[in-house]
Amino acid sequence: MLHIAIIGSGPAGYYSAEAAQKKWGDDVRIDIFDRLPVPYGLIRTGVAPDHQSIKGVSRRFEKTSLGNNARFVGNVTVGEDITITELGGLYDAIVLATGAPHDRPLDLPGSDLGNIFGSAELVGWYNGHPQFTALAPDLTGRHAVVIGMGNVALDVARILSKTEAEFAGSDIVGHALDRLRESRIETITVLGRRGPHQIAMTPKELGELASLERAEPHVDPADFPPEEADADLDPGVRKSVGLLRSFATRAEAERGIKPVRIEFDMFASPAALHGDGRVREVEVAETRLVDGRPEPTGKLYRLPADLVISCIGYRTAPIPGVPYDERQGRFANDEGRIRPGLYCVGWARRGPTGTIGTNRPDGFDVVDRIAADIGSGSDREGRAGFDRMAEERGLDIVTFRDWKRIEEAEEAAAREGSPREKFVDIEAMIRAGR
Ligand code: NAP
Repeated sequence: MLHIAIIGSGPAGYYSAEAAQKKWGDDVRIDIFDRLPVPYGLIRTGVAPDHQSIKGVSRRFEKTSLGNNARFVGNVTVGEDITITELGGLYDAIVLATGAPHDRPLDLPGSDLGNIFGSAELVGWYNGHPQFTALAPDLTGRHAVVIGMGNVALDVARILSKTEAEFAGSDIVGHALDRLRESRIETITVLGRRGPHQIAMTPKELGELASLERAEPHVDPADFPPEEADADLDPGVRKSVGLLRSFATRAEAERGIKPVRIEFDMFASPAALHGDGRVREVEVAETRLVDGRPEPTGKLYRLPADLVISCIGYRTAPIPGVPYDERQGRFANDEGRIRPGLYCVGWARRGPTGTIGTNRPDGFDVVDRIAADIGSGSDREGRAGFDRMAEERGLDIVTFRDWKRIEEAEEAAAREGSPREKFVDIEAMIRAGR
């Protein structure tokens, strides 16, 4: 029997479990740990609440959990409740699928002013992550600035600009909806330090901006290279650039009809934040591209900003005893192998790139590596040893069955038209599971 511990129950963790089930069938036992009492990681607290179809992948993960050879072990923090060394003594292989939950720091003068948040915080807040329940962003100013031109920036700009009616069918949490209802934001400036050809937003998501009820995208036609240059782009980027061009060339009669402007400000690198305890302005350095990199032209200007959300990428959280690559912000690894017996997948392996689906091949890949390293396993105790240790330490473990009760309670509490009202506090989750 092989014993595998997977740390993290998001897509990278579950796809790895699925791959291990496929490879070893009934000869493997897989424990999927999570520090939260609820599973699915980024699917629950990262994917936008108005993108329910993407969240549907959790039904596939549920099948994995309900198999005889895999189980969910919630409310256990590896590195605190149990160390990596202890887990290594119990399981033949440990797979770190812990994602990248920390914001890359903005690190600019003034970035400690009030009402400036990283996207991990803001997205966690509107998605009901217990760590960010108390965030309380002030949305009553007129100007928001979103830094970055990736899909997270797009999610944030879209969520900030939607009407209450547009959240029908979403599972945005009540505390976020209450604040968004009070929002007086009129401009959302999306700052990109490079140009349209370097955009990291994907076409489907970018296209959604065209049909928002009260917000419309604006792009400066002067930011584009000649249209012939689009031919050299990858098809996905070309499509996104095409959409940006359509936003830029909309007929005059179609502009300014909607009250909220989503303003793309390209070749614009944030240089400092100014305010009086809380942010009021972003100082921007105009850039031009030199060998694809943004270089300041020397021109500076200021944008009004009552709220700033920095969407510039994420970092994996270090775990004591696991080598960490500070520069890359993820575990130090060689194609998923940290050392024989210890592996990483998903964002913890490659950094915060790719879609949910990218994690599937990653999962199969790590399982092949494990198979090559550990053969048919050893006589480690696996889950029986963990259960004994958990009992000795008084760990309050949440099982998949408990989770199903939490899920039922969330579904029962849903406001009309919404799939669920999430618990946003760990104690409440645990109580509902009992
Ligand atoms: P991302 O795609 O890497 O975008 C990060 C953006 O931040 C880039 O525009 C980058 O500009 C900019 N940036 C980085 N450092 C900066 C700095 N110091 N100052 C100014 N700008 C800076 O990351 P993400 O948006 O966080 O998304 C993470 C991953 O999740 C991506 O693979 C994304 O596609 C995926 N995702 C997908 C969806 C979806 O499919 N619906 C939704 C959300 C996220 P440069 O290009 O110049 O570095």
